[in-house]
Amino acid sequence: MIKHAHGKKPKSILATDLDGTLVGSRTAVYDFNRHMIKNMNNFLLVYITGRVFASAWQLITKENLLYPDVLITDMGTEIYIAPHFGLDQGWEQRMRSAWDAARVQNLVQGLEGLQVREIRSRFRLSLHMDRVVSNNTLLRLHKAVDRAELPVKIVPVSAGAVDLIPVCAGKGLALCYVQERCQISKEQTFVCGDSGKDLSMFIKGFKGIVVGNARPELKNALKFKTREVYFSKSYYASGILEGLKKYGAV
Ligand SMILES: [Mg+2]
Repeated sequence: MIKHAHGKKPKSILATDLDGTLVGSRTAVYDFNRHMIKNMNNFLLVYITGRVFASAWQLITKENLLYPDVLITDMGTEIYIAPHFGLDQGWEQRMRSAWDAARVQNLVQGLEGLQVREIRSRFRLSLHMDRVVSNNTLLRLHKAVDRAELPVKIVPVSAGAVDLIPVCAGKGLALCYVQERCQISKEQTFVCGDSGKDLSMFIKGFKGIVVGNARPELKNALKFKTREVYFSKSYYASGILEGLKKYGAV
């Protein structure tokens, strides 16, 4: 079971994206940190990011973020556990058995309009799409994935970029794994995000907090889920706090 670095079982999970959600305003982070330190025994703090581990860690130190209890990186393909931030072996095993890097690379080779971006993640292939033909390219990629019957899924990253990751990975599923291992209920699990890349966290039955500065794509995708999602007016970390207060969690 995943516990606090100091050994106690927390009551709730606070899981947040970094760029554009927790990170964006330094004064808001300062305020957020103060609140979290005061409520430290209540929360398991989870950061979930598309960044690779080294880059996430750089951001944590540069922006004076609190050290998390769990750090989920690479779009939900790697899970690191405090205090030593070693890889969670159970999750690692799942990713290894689902991912065949050579076959995934073969799959995209020869598909027109797609270029592999620098490979930095072990269980993720990031692709650039030629913008002019991106709709067709995406369709061809979907077809190629179906044909190959590989257990991978296509995750949109931005207008001209997608990731291929194991079908059992992703921000939402990685958080479900952590939440189950902590034996904390979904009602006591709060998720915070600002963009379409966070959407998978908001459709798993957790309590959602969309920060005020969130992109329209996330707000639109969740506009009919007002019972499970709170739309903060405040931006960045202040938006997280506003949501937690609304839910009565702080
Ligand atoms: Mg973000």
